[in-house]
This record gives sequence, structure tokens and C-alpha cells, in this order.
Amino acid sequence: MSSTVPGEAFDWFSRETLGQGITRLWEPHVHPYFRSNIFHVRGRDVDLVIDAGMGLVPLRPVLGLQHGKPVVAVATHIHVDHVGALREFETRAGHRAEAAFFEDMADEHTLAHLFRAQPEAVGRAPNEAWSPQRFRISPAPLARILDDGDLIETGDRSFRVIHLPGHSPGSIGLFDERNGDFLAGDAIYRGRLVDDLPGSDMRLYRKTMERLLQIDFNQAYCGHGETIDLSELRSIARAYLDKPSAS
Ligand SMILES: [Zn+2]
Ligand SMILES: [Zn+2]
Repeated sequence: MSSTVPGEAFDWFSRETLGQGITRLWEPHVHPYFRSNIFHVRGRDVDLVIDAGMGLVPLRPVLGLQHGKPVVAVATHIHVDHVGALREFETRAGHRAEAAFFEDMADEHTLAHLFRAQPEAVGRAPNEAWSPQRFRISPAPLARILDDGDLIETGDRSFRVIHLPGHSPGSIGLFDERNGDFLAGDAIYRGRLVDDLPGSDMRLYRKTMERLLQIDFNQAYCGHGETIDLSELRSIARAYLDKPSAS
């Protein structure tokens, strides 16, 4: 079921309620290339917000957070379409390989300049004063630096951090080993996998695909697009590995 969330000036986010207390939000007015997913995982003691969209309108007010309940915001990687609203959350986490980049959110790491240069970056402006040229991402230093194998706990669920470099050096996924839920970031999703950005590494991306093929996921909540099941995930990974290697 999809519905629209009342935003600031107008309805900016769309959302879909998934199973297990997970809500997917996205920004339908953002250019498809940058239109990413934000996942809100309601835990017993702690909520997780996994990725933070473009930050074009405030994200936090539309999440319906419980007053006083801790929230941990996890960035699956440093790219502009995942960290825009990250600074709205006090407790921020991301992978060690990109940790320093959250201190200044420089274009060379977030690739925000690609969004500014994108024709029709938004289908409608988030507010009257908005222009792509003025778009900047606010620094959002990390409170917690993540490594492969770390656990992020919500009280009733544990998510294992899986380091999945290739798309970017510090790309991570979060895996609930108990029920197989996998929050994949931009490591894998339906559609062309982007492995040619500054900071991308095709050799590492292939290793990431080999690793993903070894894990018994249930379903993957991806950084872009729809939820995919294990068989689709594996066919995407195999198709990537079947491509002629660049090196
Ligand atoms: Zn990305
Ligand atoms: Zn993305």
C-alpha cells in the first residue's frame, strides 16, 4: 500500500508500509536517478532510519517518531541521495572507509555536483526559494563508525553490518540474520548497477557480488526501487558477474 505523507509546503514523500515494522519512504519529485529509498525500522527500544534521502525538505517530522525514543540514523554510503537529511538525526552511523567524508560532505565524496548539474533535478521545487545551484549538504559527523560484522541493535532485532564496497568504498548493508531481512543500500537493486562513479571500484564490486551470493537473505530492501526477493537478488548478482570484467 502506498500513500503520501503530508510534508512541509506540500506532500513531498511517498511511503509504503512493509512487514516487520519497516516503512519505505521515497521522494517522487526527485529525478529518478537520485530517487532513493529511506527505511524507518521501528524497534522495541530504538528506531533505525536507514538512509536520509536528498534533504530537500525536513525528513524527521514525517517519520512519526515517538518522543524520547532513541533513533539511530545509518548511512549506507556517502552519496548525495542517501545523506541529505542525515544531520537531522543526532546519532549517526556509517562505515569507516567513508567516515571522514561526513565531516564536511564535500562534493567530491557526496557527488552533489551531479545532482546540481542534472537537468530537471526535481519535477517540482520543494519550496519557492529553492534552486539547484544553492543545493548543499550539511556536514553530519558520525557518532558511530561501523565495521564489517558490527551489530546494530533495536532491542528486538539485531542487524549485522556487511561491508559491500564497489559502488562506493564504504557501502554497507544491514542484515537481520534471524529473519533474513537485508537492507542493501546501493550494493544491489533492480536496474543498472552503478559502478563507474568516482570512488567506484569494479573489482571490489565483483567481490561484493560473490559475497552476496553466499548469504541466505529473505528479502532485500534496496537503496533504490522495489523490494526484491532472494532469487531476484541472486540473478542480479550473477548477471553482474557474467559481465565482461573491465580489468
Ligand atoms: Zn550511491
Ligand atoms: Zn543511491
